[in-house]
Amino acid sequence: MIIQIQKGATDIEVLHISEAVQSIGYTYNDIKTQFGRYLICIGKKEIDLRKIGFLPGVADVFKVSDAYKLTSTKWKVGKTAVDLGDGIRIGNGEFQIMAGPCSIESEEQIISTIEHLKANGIKIMRGGVYKPRSSPYSFRGLGMDGLKLWYKLAKENNIKIITEVMQVSQIAEMHDYVDIFQVGARNSQNFNLLDELGRVDKPILLKRGMSGTIEELLQSAEYVFSNGNEKIILCERGIRTYETAYRNTMDINAITILKDKSHLPVVADPSHGVGVRKYVDKIALASIMAGADGVIMEVHECPQKAFSDGQQTLDYGQSENLIKKMGKARELIA
Ligand code: PEP
Ligand code: MN
Repeated sequence: MIIQIQKGATDIEVLHISEAVQSIGYTYNDIKTQFGRYLICIGKKEIDLRKIGFLPGVADVFKVSDAYKLTSTKWKVGKTAVDLGDGIRIGNGEFQIMAGPCSIESEEQIISTIEHLKANGIKIMRGGVYKPRSSPYSFRGLGMDGLKLWYKLAKENNIKIITEVMQVSQIAEMHDYVDIFQVGARNSQNFNLLDELGRVDKPILLKRGMSGTIEELLQSAEYVFSNGNEKIILCERGIRTYETAYRNTMDINAITILKDKSHLPVVADPSHGVGVRKYVDKIALASIMAGADGVIMEVHECPQKAFSDGQQTLDYGQSENLIKKMGKARELIA
């Protein structure tokens, strides 16, 4: 059960509500976010919601049987749009493309990517400065020096930044230089990281783990929400299956199902989702048809020379083509 607390309810009112919850044998978690306050009540007994609903300080009460609660559609009417500032929103009908290299490599590369984005009306640049790599000998990112330089150039050009945070200790140093914190597939169930990201007031793009279920992704999002941060974007980036003809199996089904089960925006990552450059455009378009609120994709001036993930990265011509096609796909489903 979710009890939505009225704005301006007093602590005494909330105390009385929590006592009523306990008196029927339920436990509760008192959750305060940047937008609201909720009591998440856990118990088995059938209860008459009206008994709680009439208490002073209660805005609304909802029965939510899902394992995830605040991320569920069962209580929130309508879809959530995550506000990135400067009039840029994602979700609830607003679509965004996030594009850029797998890794931030150099000043020249940042400038050239920004030019490409601006020429195509893209407002959000992706790129990793802390890279999770299968081999410790691969390029692992430019770290904070790269992020600070990137941030400066991006701000001069009104471009937002999304980049991956890999561990709790990086959150504070990165905080003022990112617009969206990305949680990568490998950290999708790093609950300590998710707890801490719940305590910042910045949008979080949460990727699905490569062996994570849809329900596990929503429960991971619940960690962020229940620690106080409602600004969450879910991301399908492909799962690992027995197939070897491509890198990952893009679970297009998950996009539609996540949009049904959750009010949060859902974006698709076709680059990691299929992992082969020549298929990325088709998978991006399929994701839009499945209902994606955005696409995050890897783009590089010269993918053959990219420090990471070149095999799935589009060059500027391919990116421009796809951006145009995505615009048309959006019109088709409008
Ligand atoms: C990335 O976005 O470059 C990345 C490492 O993604 P994922 O966590 O989905 O593998
Ligand atoms: Mn990558």
